[in-house]
Amino acid sequence: MEMQRTIRSAALIKGIGLQTGKRVELKLRPAPPDRGIVFIRSDMPGDPEIRVCPQNLHSAFQRTALKRGRAEIHTVEHILAALSALYIDNVVIEINNVELPGLDGSAKEFVGVLRDAGLHMQDVPRNYIETEKPIICSDDKGTIQIIPDEHFKIEYFLDYDHKLLKEQWSDIILDGSEKSMDFFEREIAPARTFCLERDAMTLLKLGLGKGADFSNTLVINAEGPINNRFRFPDEPVRHKVLDLLGDLYVLGRHIKGRIVARKSGHKLNSIFIKRLKEESEKLLTKIA
Ligand SMILES: [Zn+2]
Repeated sequence: MEMQRTIRSAALIKGIGLQTGKRVELKLRPAPPDRGIVFIRSDMPGDPEIRVCPQNLHSAFQRTALKRGRAEIHTVEHILAALSALYIDNVVIEINNVELPGLDGSAKEFVGVLRDAGLHMQDVPRNYIETEKPIICSDDKGTIQIIPDEHFKIEYFLDYDHKLLKEQWSDIILDGSEKSMDFFEREIAPARTFCLERDAMTLLKLGLGKGADFSNTLVINAEGPINNRFRFPDEPVRHKVLDLLGDLYVLGRHIKGRIVARKSGHKLNSIFIKRLKEESEKLLTKIA
């Protein structure tokens, strides 16, 4: 039986929100079993709490956001990916602004800080999200599905109408072992946010991307990233795996199952998450 985990010691992360351009500070603290991943907006009156769960999922353009009452938190996907890959079940994150820091556009620093804080094994078994049958969700662009499996695995297929973003595929097995955490830290966590040059202008017009620059966002034109270089030849698909892992952890629980996605983004992921939660609850009531 796998036990729940939290961090061993408190940790601090500072930076600027990628979309809002606002300065922000995060204080991460260990939390007791079954507390889950909880954000606290320490800059708002009454320090409102926003638990990471599908009920608090809030639709936002090109990022993942959570909302409870008046309190919102934006761009949670990269820190959630790090927490998921390290199998951290419980942590309290105090945040003093509306958006997580963008850092270098990847999850590299989040993983580094969390691993430095250390993992603490708790004495309560972990509960998982699982399904009895496969589920598939699709929209006009892509698909995402789960196939029941003992393990948690993600496969992503990226295919844009762009020669540098064509037919890229990446996969990862996530089991919380040292080997799996090392693989994530080395191969997936450093993959940065990207967009096409033509989409960058749309984002700026919408008042987004205020904290973005050519170093934390790969702005890709016909030749490659403008004023930058890829960390991996297939960095974009690796970042898609990262975003998907983070989005899936909005479930607040780790998954047992094989996830296969093709061109899915935050919007389709959120539909899938809600469906997955329903199916998992059906299975639980059946067992009970
Ligand atoms: Zn991302």
